[in-house]
Amino acid sequence: MVTRLYTHPIYLEHLTSAGHPERPDRLRAIQRALDDEPFETLDRAEAPEGDEQTILFVHPEPFVESIRRQVPEEGLAQIDGDTILSPKSWQAALTAIGAANAAVDDVFSGKIDNVFVAARPPGHHAEKTTAMGFCLFNNSAIAARYAQRRYGAERVAIVDWDVHHGNGTQDIFWEDPSVLYCSTHQMPLFPGTGAKSEAGVGNIVNAPLSPDTGSDDFREAFRSRVLPALDNFAPDLIIISAGFDAHHRDPLAEINLTEADFDWATGQLMDRAARFSSNRLVSLLEGGYDLHGLAFSVAAHVKRLMKG
Ligand SMILES: [Zn+2]
Repeated sequence: MVTRLYTHPIYLEHLTSAGHPERPDRLRAIQRALDDEPFETLDRAEAPEGDEQTILFVHPEPFVESIRRQVPEEGLAQIDGDTILSPKSWQAALTAIGAANAAVDDVFSGKIDNVFVAARPPGHHAEKTTAMGFCLFNNSAIAARYAQRRYGAERVAIVDWDVHHGNGTQDIFWEDPSVLYCSTHQMPLFPGTGAKSEAGVGNIVNAPLSPDTGSDDFREAFRSRVLPALDNFAPDLIIISAGFDAHHRDPLAEINLTEADFDWATGQLMDRAARFSSNRLVSLLEGGYDLHGLAFSVAAHVKRLMKG
């Protein structure tokens, strides 16, 4: 497998308030973990700045402009109690989109099998016209649309194992059978959506997990809900909304996964990518707020991406 890693120093300059869980140290922890010897052969690239036009594939222009206007010249600005802007947030968000789209370019070029994007801010809570839950723009949704428009992908699957439901991604593709959205997440938990009954036009597959469950329930949800949906859909591209906050150490939720579960789930999705999408798989960082749990989990995930 040829695995590429995108990151960029600008992602450290998207600042949040003191004590906020979604903080630059998350990426520093990931970078330290991936500087280790097993990752020597990782193809490392600096994320390119994104094309603003691609944001409009998903979000209407007045919304995009309202985010741009709220970016402060100094200090911090609040979109809501959770979602913060600092002076470099626009550039960080645009570069997160740039990396996601470049990852799509890479896997469709045939030279790269799969890509992990270590970027912030995350994206899966961003709805068409609402930034929330630490997210400004929906990176995975933009990448899915980019794959469709640029490469003619007919069916894109987004698999979201972040412990929170990706209400934004669900909102964006609610009536769009060309995108399959599958999510495992704790319920009840923020943002409150993600019941099994929320199915869109048959293209939304929610697999909620009860608090204090772990590996067995997560893998069962994958086996009984996520993987059959993928097999039925036969995607041209798989995008992972890769949050690592279902790790047992994470302070924001009560699901007890370990690195071994992320390794396993990565392998399952790679198996489907091999079968359906010429290995094309793009993984985008979402949440994960315990620095050790995050670093260990990302290491296991990327190791699996490299190994096949
Ligand atoms: Zn999360």
